[in-house]
Amino acid sequence: MPIFDNHIHLRAEFRGVEAARDFERAGGTAVLLTHSPYDEIPIHRAEDYDKAYTKTLAMAEAVRKATHLQVFVALGPYPVDFLGLQGAVGHAPAIEVMRSGIDRAAEHIAAQRAVAFGEVGRPHFPVSEEILAACNGLLEYTMSRARELGCARHSRAGRASSWRQTTSTTRDGRERSLGRRPCPGKRRRGSRTAS
Ligand SMILES: [Zn+2]
Repeated sequence: MPIFDNHIHLRAEFRGVEAARDFERAGGTAVLLTHSPYDEIPIHRAEDYDKAYTKTLAMAEAVRKATHLQVFVALGPYPVDFLGLQGAVGHAPAIEVMRSGIDRAAEHIAAQRAVAFGEVGRPHFPVSEEILAACNGLLEYTMSRARELGCARHSRAGRASSWRQTTSTTRDGRERSLGRRPCPGKRRRGSRTAS
């Protein structure tokens, strides 16, 4: 029976591959390794996403080598990245860096190194209307790229009232609900990470 964890973060500096082995021992068969930020790779410019995504893809490869798990990867600019970026480079340039992060993830998806955008969406705490509008714009852009690529988008809606909007985009452009399960957050399995 397939047992799929559709939202897992793993890091070598925490339990990494060991956590994946635990999941397999417990009967798990597949994971969606979902990109999240790394303290040691702060995002200051678009190129930083290349380095960050490479680290997530390397973890996927390490898990494939160490287990029999099927490992899928989701890549994308983490919503909270926007806050630091906006403080460092300003509002409009921050949007451009995030858009480039989406495009860089799209390249990996097109090359089949990743299967979905994730995690993308809105910060998981209250933010100003201006930031919310920027994140919504980025989410729309992600959805258009997902539609074009025929891939899924794994997102966080940010606020409880927004769960209804947590959807994936199917190949024909229809929105399909991915359910209302929030990001694992404090009760995440496997590995300690930002969420
Ligand atoms: Zn997460």
